[in-house]
Amino acid sequence: MRVPLHVEGPESNRVVALVPVGGAPPPAVDGELRVLLTPEGVRACVEEWSPDAVVVVEPDGQALPRLAGLGVPLVLLGGDTLPAAAVGRLGVHAWLPASATPDQVRLSVAAAASRRREEAGLRRHEELLRHTLDLASTLAALRTPEDVVAQAVAGFAAVIGGPVPTGAIVVRLGVDDALRFAGVGRHAGLRSDLDLPVTVVEAVARVFGRVDTVEWVDGGVVVGVVGGGWVSGALYVADAELPPGFGTLGGVIAGLVGQALSNTVLFHRSSHDAMTGLCSRAYGLHRLAEVLALASRHPAPTCVMVLDVDLFKRVNDAHGHQGGDVVLAAVADLIRRTIRGTDLAVRLGGEEFLVVLPQTDEAAAAAVAERMRRVVSAWRGEHQGRELAVSVSIGVAEASPGERDVGRLVARADDALYEAKRQGRNRVVRAG
Ligand code: GH3
Ligand code: MG
Ligand code: MG
Repeated sequence: MRVPLHVEGPESNRVVALVPVGGAPPPAVDGELRVLLTPEGVRACVEEWSPDAVVVVEPDGQALPRLAGLGVPLVLLGGDTLPAAAVGRLGVHAWLPASATPDQVRLSVAAAASRRREEAGLRRHEELLRHTLDLASTLAALRTPEDVVAQAVAGFAAVIGGPVPTGAIVVRLGVDDALRFAGVGRHAGLRSDLDLPVTVVEAVARVFGRVDTVEWVDGGVVVGVVGGGWVSGALYVADAELPPGFGTLGGVIAGLVGQALSNTVLFHRSSHDAMTGLCSRAYGLHRLAEVLALASRHPAPTCVMVLDVDLFKRVNDAHGHQGGDVVLAAVADLIRRTIRGTDLAVRLGGEEFLVVLPQTDEAAAAAVAERMRRVVSAWRGEHQGRELAVSVSIGVAEASPGERDVGRLVARADDALYEAKRQGRNRVVRAG
C-alpha cells in the first residue's frame, strides 16, 4: 500500500512514503495518512515512485538497518532511544521525537527533499566540469583546426550526455580568413556545404564572434566562439535536453574551442614558412627526429630527399627577386602535390627543400624523386609577361636501421645532391 504525503512550500507535491514499522500505532502525522509497510514494501515503493524522502515511524530503530542504502533521505520519527552515532551511520537526514507535530514532519521532509535535489544538481555540475576540464586538456594538445572541430563536437556530446547531438561550428580562422563549417556528430570535419535551418543561421550571425553571447534556438543553443583575435565564429548544438546551467558552460566550452583554434593558427605560423606554406627548417627537422624515433621502435624504412633549384641565381638575375619568389612558391606547390599526405615537405632555406618519406625504401623514394624532377622541369610559369622555367637536382638517402641522427641522414642526402650537381644538374642521385 502506498501513501502520498503532500508537502507544502516551494517544493510541494513531492511524494513521500510514510512508514510505520512494527505493531505500535503510528502517531497522527496526518489524520488520513496511516499505513503499515514492511521495509521490503518501502524498498519496492521507492523503486516505483522515487519519492524525495521516506518518513520512518519507529520507536526502537529495528527497521533502520534494513532501510539503509535506499538512496532516499530518511526522516526518523521516534527512535528516541537510538544512539546518535548509529543514526548518522544509517543516513538519517532528520530525527524527530515521537511527539513531533505533523507540521514539523512536513518541514523536515521538505528540507530533506530540497537538499537531495541540491546534491543531485551539484553532482551533475561536477560531472559537467570534469568533462569540460577533460575537453580543455585534449584541445590544448591539438595542432590542426580540423582536429579541434572534431574534438569540440565530441566534447559537447560528452558534456551534454545522451545521444550524439547534432549541430555545427562555423568559424573564421585568421590563416586564410575563410569561413568554415563543420558538421557536428560522428562525421565532423571541416566542410562548407552544411545545411543549417534559417533560424540557426540567423542566430549564428547574431552571436558570431561574441563569446559571452548564448542564444537558444529551436531547443538548441548557439554560442559565440572567439580566440586570440585570430578566430571568430559560433558553435551551434541542437539537443532537446540540454543540462541545466549549460548556457554558462556552453560559453566556457566555446571559449576553449576558440582558444584552441587560435593556438592552431599560432602554431601553424611558427612552424611553417610563410612564403611557401611548407614546414619551417626547425619544425621539419623536429618532425624528422620523431619519424626516425618511431621507425626505430617499429622498424620501417625511412627516406629523405634534399632538393635544390638549379642555377637559381640566374632566375633572380633574369627576373628579379620577385620572379625568383614566384618560382619558389611554384616549386613548393609541385613538391606538395607530388608527395603523399603522410610525407613531409620542408623548406630548409633559400631554394633548398627537404622531403621526409616515412615507411618508404630508397628505391621507392628515388622513384618519387624522379617523378618530382620531371614535374618541375615540365612546369612553366610567368612573371611580368616573361616565361619562367627551372629544374631541380635531388639527393636521396635511406636511414640505416635504428638511425636516430637527423643531421647525419640529411648530410648524406646533401652529399648525393652535391653529386647530382657535379654530374650536370637536373637529376636524381641516391646516396646508396
Ligand atoms: P646551383 O645549381 O649550384 O644550386 O646554383 P644556384 O644558383 O642555385 O646556387 P646557390 O645555391 O648559390 O644560389 C641560391 C640563390 O638563391 C642565392 C640567393 O640569393 C637566392 N635566394 C635564397 N633565398 C631566396 C628567396 O627567398 N627568394 C629569392 N628570390 N631568392 C633567394
Ligand atoms: Mg641552387
Ligand atoms: Mg642552394
